[in-house]
Formats: sequence, structure tokens, C-alpha cells
Amino acid sequence: MATYYNDHTVMFLNGEYVKASEAKMDFYSQSLHYGYSVFEGIRSYKTVTGETRIFKAKEHFDRLKASAEALNLPYTWNTVELTEITYEVLRRNNLQNAYIRPVVYAPANMSFNLNTESYILIEVWEMAAFLGDKLLRVMCSSFQRPNPKGFKIHAKAAGHYVNSILASQEAKAKGYDEALLSDMHGFIAEGPGANFFYEKNGKLYTPSLGNILPGITRATVLELCSELKIDVTEKEILPEEVYGADAAFFCGTAAEVIGFASLDDKPFALPWENTISKTIQDAYKNLITENKIALIEEVVGVE
Ligand code: PMP
Repeated sequence: MATYYNDHTVMFLNGEYVKASEAKMDFYSQSLHYGYSVFEGIRSYKTVTGETRIFKAKEHFDRLKASAEALNLPYTWNTVELTEITYEVLRRNNLQNAYIRPVVYAPANMSFNLNTESYILIEVWEMAAFLGDKLLRVMCSSFQRPNPKGFKIHAKAAGHYVNSILASQEAKAKGYDEALLSDMHGFIAEGPGANFFYEKNGKLYTPSLGNILPGITRATVLELCSELKIDVTEKEILPEEVYGADAAFFCGTAAEVIGFASLDDKPFALPWENTISKTIQDAYKNLITENKIALIEEVVGVE
């Protein structure tokens, strides 16, 4: 099991900075029993100038609020204060390259009724710079993503992740690195914790919004495509179109941009180094570390 904290680790819990090893939560929480909570996954990076930067803090804390509202969880915080608190938690733990996990959860309540208040915690732990070199062997999952008529699929709700866990565990049990899930109509949706793109004949394709989590990294990749003049289309995608395409990748806050070696054992046609997907991977790395010179060189095409 991974270690996320030690006796010195500090977390933010309902207005206080407390030791993670001493923090308490209510075991009668509606969140623990029914998966009824919302959370975020955020990264901070040491930039090229040595500063600590939370990447897309506003987008993540705005989504936390939107997720809470989608689930009727009372939400009394604002993005600016939560961003400041998170920088303080990072400082108190002496962390720059970190993973940040805010959770909004419910009080003790064994019924399904609405609550009058929610609680919040913010945990951080070390995450080393991601190398992104190892290509993934991915399988199309036997699990579909939750039906958007049964769940608020655009919300980052804890309960949705039972589906992610089942799909990821199935893939690993079968010897793959990760799963790719379809929506209820059989179109490709996303990975258990990342969005999906594939590349064919110099163009990128990604599933349309509606049956997926609208990823902040996905939106960043779309912005990079526009800056780099890369043609990208959001559409319904069947697995058959992806088999033998030029390249494919997952993108997400934790995954960053990570290429596929194969899908259902069918390899991709181009070596990763020769793909526009790799160009996106490099541009993303430069963006998160605020390597502006390299980014400009990419846009103007300097080698
Ligand atoms: N889809 C799912 C199911 C996820 O859990 C994540 C990770 N939050 C993503 C996509 C990617 O979202 P983001 O880029 O905002 O991290």
C-alpha cells in the first residue's frame, strides 16, 4: 500500500490545519455509507523558475462547487479562499510537486435526506514529476460508464468511482495497464480516471461531452490544439475506428498525457515519437511547468 502521510503531515479540515494522523471524521457520515461526496484531483508543480504553482486551481475548485451543487451538497466555500488554503497546506508540508485532494462530505445521516451542512478536507501528498514515457497496453472494458440518466455524470462524485475501480481492476487482472470504457450506447467514453483522444492522418478525435467527465486536461488539450493549429474533432467514436489508428492517449490531471502502445492488443501505426499526440504531450509538460520559451518554440515550429 502507498504511504500518503506520516506523523508530520498536515491537512486542512473544516477551518483548521491539523495533523493527518490525528484528524477525525464521523463514521456515521452519509458519505462513507453511500459514496455521497464530491472531490477533486489537482496537481501542483515546481515551475522552471522554482515557484510552486497549482495548475488550473480556479477550474478545479469551480468544478468542486459545481459537483457539490449537482449532488445537492451544501457548499459554503469559494474558489479564492480554497486556493489560498491549498497553497498554505503545501507550504506547511514543504511540497512543490504534489497531488492535491479536496473532498466535500456529508455529516452523520443514515437516511437519504438532504443535509443542512457539508464538511471539507484538503489533503496533499508528494507526486514526483511524471515521465510519461511508458506507453500503455489498454483493453476495452466489459464495464460501461454510468448512465447519465442515473447519475450526474459531469460531477466528480465519489460513488461514480466504484465503476472506475471495477474497470481498472478487471484490466489489470487480465494483464493490461488500464481500461477504456464505453458509454451506454457502446461509443468510447473515457478511462477510469482520464479522458481519451486518438490520432489518425494528422488529426485528433475525442468523445463529445455528455457521457463523460468534462476533464480540465481535456479542455487544456483542446486549447493546445487550437494554439498549435492541430485539427481536433469531438464526436461519437467506436472501438473499431481506433484499432490500428496512428496513436491514442489518455489525459487527466494525474495521468497528464500518456500514450497507448495498443488497444485490445492491436498496436498503433506510428511510433509515438512521430505523432502529433507526442507534440501535445510535450506542450502539456511545458505548460504545467510554465516553460514559456519551449511553448512558444512549439507554436512557431522551432526545433
Ligand atoms: N474522467 C474521469 C472519470 C476522471 O476521473 C478524470 C480525472 N479527474 C478525468 C476524466 C480527467 O479529468 P481532469 O483532466 O479534470 O483531471
